Amino acid sequence: MCAAVLVIGSANADLVVPVDHRPAGGETVLGGDTVLSPGGKGANTAVAAGRLGASVALLGAVGPDAYGTLLRDSLTGAGVSLDHLRTVDRPTGIAYITVTPDGENSILVSPGANSALSPSDITDAALSGASVVVLSLEVPLATVSHAVSRAAASGATVLLNLSPAALLPTETLSAVDVLLVNEHEAAYLLGSTSADLTGLLALGPRAAVVTLGARGAVVITPEGPTSVASPTVRALDTTGAGDAFAGALAASLASGLSLTEAAHRAAAVAAVSVTRAGAQPSYPTAAEVF
Ligand code: ADP
Repeated sequence: MCAAVLVIGSANADLVVPVDHRPAGGETVLGGDTVLSPGGKGANTAVAAGRLGASVALLGAVGPDAYGTLLRDSLTGAGVSLDHLRTVDRPTGIAYITVTPDGENSILVSPGANSALSPSDITDAALSGASVVVLSLEVPLATVSHAVSRAAASGATVLLNLSPAALLPTETLSAVDVLLVNEHEAAYLLGSTSADLTGLLALGPRAAVVTLGARGAVVITPEGPTSVASPTVRALDTTGAGDAFAGALAASLASGLSLTEAAHRAAAVAAVSVTRAGAQPSYPTAAEVF
């Protein structure tokens, strides 16, 4: 199958444990019951786009274990093609997440199979037919850089969700059509929290979108910034909101919308996702939003 949206990125099992406080070195803490759910930035983005009805594939890697099956089932349930999801001889990636009563997360990621995603996995067959290619950074940076340049050469719109924040070569950022970051990642890239967000274009991308939590997002093009409001909702769990935004942005761009129109739809989708628990389970269908 040739998918209109190709997501290249991670697939992780999220193991979430509520704790009163986090263990210090040498300390043992008893937490609450573990909640297991399918996650990882790549899989989340693909599921968000798939729920909206986009033709989407995930290029990634999982292990030959129960967590790999959990991820495959969630992706399949959202209509995501698994043609380019490899099973490798490493454990599926796991995010160990502790949540304290104040709602703060701390996360330890063991990338496992995601580390095996290499430049040679970025095949012509995977890129063929993709009008939008989405990348994020829980897979090796060399693979991301290679994929960005291959995707740009194929003529696809390249959407890079630069999360978790990292510095990439200028050559890579210059091949990106849309750089998507939250405000913390933008501050990291700009080296300042008060910096003018339009400075992101100086790093190389054709356009940028900065998500601002409950305040929505700002779309930055050479013509200037445009604010995109988020619908006002009662937020229950913001886990994976940025990935919901990325998936919806990609699905909307693939359907032919302009970047600003796509960002409005993405903000509407992400706002629904924060009213429900979890990441992938919280992502709405198009019928639930529009
Ligand atoms: P991340 O999840 O990467 O930290 P943000 O917190 O900026 O990213 O959230 C991404 C998007 O999710 C926002 O642009 C907005 O559309 C939506 N969102 C997040 N938090 C809320 C909220 N409290 N109310 C409404 N929408 C929200």
